[in-house]
Amino acid sequence: MKAYERLLNYVKVFTTSDDDSDTVPSSARQFDLAHKLVEEMKAIGIEDARVDDKCYVYGSIPATPGCEDKPAIGFIAHMDTAPDFSGENVNPRIIENYDGGEVVLGESGRALKPSDFPHLPSLKGRTLIVTDGATLLGADDKAGIAEIMTAAERIINEKIPHCALRLAFTPDEEVGRGADHFDVRGFGADYAYTVDGGAEHIIEYENFNAYAAQFEINGFNVHPGSAKNIMINALHVACEIEGMLPAGQIPRDTEGYEGFFHLCDISGTTEHASSYYILRDHSSEIMEGRIATLRHIEKLLNEKYGEGTVKLTVKEQYRNMIEKIKPCFHLIENACDAVRELGLTPKTEPIRGGTDGARLSFMGLPCPNLGTGGYAYHGPYEHITVEGMDLASEIILGIIGKYSK
Ligand SMILES: [Zn+2]
Repeated sequence: MKAYERLLNYVKVFTTSDDDSDTVPSSARQFDLAHKLVEEMKAIGIEDARVDDKCYVYGSIPATPGCEDKPAIGFIAHMDTAPDFSGENVNPRIIENYDGGEVVLGESGRALKPSDFPHLPSLKGRTLIVTDGATLLGADDKAGIAEIMTAAERIINEKIPHCALRLAFTPDEEVGRGADHFDVRGFGADYAYTVDGGAEHIIEYENFNAYAAQFEINGFNVHPGSAKNIMINALHVACEIEGMLPAGQIPRDTEGYEGFFHLCDISGTTEHASSYYILRDHSSEIMEGRIATLRHIEKLLNEKYGEGTVKLTVKEQYRNMIEKIKPCFHLIENACDAVRELGLTPKTEPIRGGTDGARLSFMGLPCPNLGTGGYAYHGPYEHITVEGMDLASEIILGIIGKYSK
């Protein structure tokens, strides 16, 4: 079976995760796909395929004779789709020999346009898969599952000699919990790749360092008519904090390796206010500087208004995986070589966010990210090509080949 045929099967299953739920998985419907995948894995010869009570699907393919001493390589993709947009009743459309131009998406009034998505003309001649405009497609990350499954099927059917392989399909990536219950030890891979990126030639191994910063501000409220030199308006102090931050270091003004402070929430009364920021930077040194800037603001304002006026709490969210990938850089070199051998030019890009692979890397499983061939995730413009999926699957086989030599 081709990878895109699998994708078309998987997108029929409604697997949207749920930010507001505290259950594991966040939505029980993710088990529907998990059970289907276990069945399919067993049918292609992955005998130990199983799903655990947390909705993590695992399976392994033992090394072929002569490859037992090679590293065990894992491939991981996620089953859920983003809660940002509907993932129910997905109705994909296949456009053969795509002309590189505008595509009207069903009756939705939406259209996929090269002016919004400048890469579209580069897909000319390929077979394009789009939505009907009413849902997302779910290529993020069901394409990753389909590509891993297709590579696994070929390894088994074509009796390709290979190192030990480990496969995992996880729930709840889109709500930031995909690594929470991942059984790294049980998985038993030395290294792994998530297959959850964009264009097939992109390899990602750098992500943001991420911190959350919460300011709690205690004001001093008196009648505004007799407030001179007495009132401390907590809301004003919250605005003062925002005004003391360096200009231009916000998401709107930054790209590539540029980090930022992002004000996500500010609320309160004269009496009490709070503001919530996220801090992002690829460099851990610059991140330390960002935290020091916030600490300095806290100190200055407490000197100005009195001790206890401003209380800052800083929490780590995730870290840049590069420090865990650098010692095993063969992961990137082998992936780049596999891309090159298919006649493509590998591209490495810093992720302006986090990945489950980043968290897994810090849990002891170094785990960069490969492309799936998909674009415009999390909304109705999501699309992918049959050829991109075939290439992504070939890249997986290429990487396996390198670790099996
Ligand atoms: Zn994803």
